[in-house]
Amino acid sequence: MNTLPLYIGGCFQNGADPSQDVINPATGASLARAARATTAETEAAIRAARQAFDSGVWSGATAMKRGQVLLEVAHRLRAQAAELARLETENMGKPVLEAEADVADAAACFEYYGGLATKVTGEVNPVPSDALSLTLKEPVGVCGQIIPWNYPLLMAAWKLAPALAAGCTTVLKPAEATPMTALELARILDGVPDLPKGVVNIVTGDGPTVGAKLAASDLVDKVAFTGSTRTGRSILRAAADSNLKRVTLELGGKSPNIFFADAHWEAAVEGAVFGVFVNQGEVCSAGSRILVEKSIHQRFLEAVVEKARTIRLGDPLDPATRMGPLVTAAHRERVLSYIEEGRREGARLVLGGGKPNGALARGAYLEPTIFDRVDPGMKIAQEEIFGPVVAVIPFEGEPEAVEIANATPYGLAGAVWTRDIYRAFRVVKKLRAGVVWVNHMQPTYVEAPWGGVKMSGAGRELGLHGIDNYLELKQVYVHLSEDPIGWY
Ligand code: ADP
Repeated sequence: MNTLPLYIGGCFQNGADPSQDVINPATGASLARAARATTAETEAAIRAARQAFDSGVWSGATAMKRGQVLLEVAHRLRAQAAELARLETENMGKPVLEAEADVADAAACFEYYGGLATKVTGEVNPVPSDALSLTLKEPVGVCGQIIPWNYPLLMAAWKLAPALAAGCTTVLKPAEATPMTALELARILDGVPDLPKGVVNIVTGDGPTVGAKLAASDLVDKVAFTGSTRTGRSILRAAADSNLKRVTLELGGKSPNIFFADAHWEAAVEGAVFGVFVNQGEVCSAGSRILVEKSIHQRFLEAVVEKARTIRLGDPLDPATRMGPLVTAAHRERVLSYIEEGRREGARLVLGGGKPNGALARGAYLEPTIFDRVDPGMKIAQEEIFGPVVAVIPFEGEPEAVEIANATPYGLAGAVWTRDIYRAFRVVKKLRAGVVWVNHMQPTYVEAPWGGVKMSGAGRELGLHGIDNYLELKQVYVHLSEDPIGWY
């Protein structure tokens, strides 16, 4: 059995407790055993990152050098793309075509921030002429980076690339279920000349042990987290109770996908299906509420159901597959309990709702599931399910669409489908969300900011703003004469 190491201080080492079974969710087969890092091992990783930061070996490297290192990481990711995509699919269950896109996006993220490293500049502030006031941008320090299992490699890239560009050092913690590609990334990083030891540490293990330690440690200056709102809250609390470290959070969502009667029909029908079923619905921005104008409700529902029936559920390594298994059998049980809850609350199940039989029975598969006539207050319309389950909610007119869209605690993303440009922008302005798509759902680019409002998070990743999470501003005042203040 393949035992996976920890990556601490530039060394691969066996963990004291290599007991985390890593499972292929399509087959139930065991892929490897990962280390469940102890508190002492986590502390060793934090100390390695602290030492690397305090030595100045990385923050003191030229921005040009840091950028070149990131470009080299991107190059190596692309060179190994097929192998990484396969590994991601075997570990996480997503269709290999999606995994290939994820690897390309991860490489693009390193390329973007590799280029941006040399474009971080300071400012001169307009103070009176007897002084010079400068704003310097400096790396925030040691970062704890905690990521989820739905895009294991891509989330590692979103976290590492801007932090490294800024000159920070990091301890990255993958999710329990999905350590494979993060550790492969550790191998890649380890082979890149000019990336000093200890700048990146990758530590697998349990959230309440490793993640909680990163959030609570006084040696960590910043924690960046992507995951559930519940865990985000506990991280924020740990930061508050320790050294008030900087916190950025990318949390859950219940994103509305809003369809007006004048929307382009075929694009809208496919957008409704893709919006929620891509990546098995295990997407923080999943369009898990389809809001549809009453005049087209029945016809649109039928078309969406018909389209969803064509989704090829199957072996995720088959390039023809469009939906794989959920990440674990335990997660499928959680999703199934929501389906049960939807039935109990009286929503009308119009597609799926169960585990497929036959060849797929041994994997953690779940049928694409559609509930119609969902009341906006029902649990399945309010809570994040994080699986292939969508709630269809009819509305009458623009104000009601907006009211329903905004009536959850979340505010990550949303989409509006219409050919009326005035209405599109009116709705865009009224949606309380960090990301809004018009006539599309889910496209995400490293060049544009990403993140949510309300209980979907704090701060923005990606784009030019994404690097600010890893920079502190220092204001420098330079007095331009030797005259005393003359106050006493
Ligand atoms: P899920 O329940 O879907 O796994 P989580 O938000 O719990 O979502 O997981 C996202 C990441 O947060 C994972 O890497 C997980 O190990 C980590 N995590 C879980 N609990 C904690 C915690 N108390 N403190 C810090 N990180 C945690």
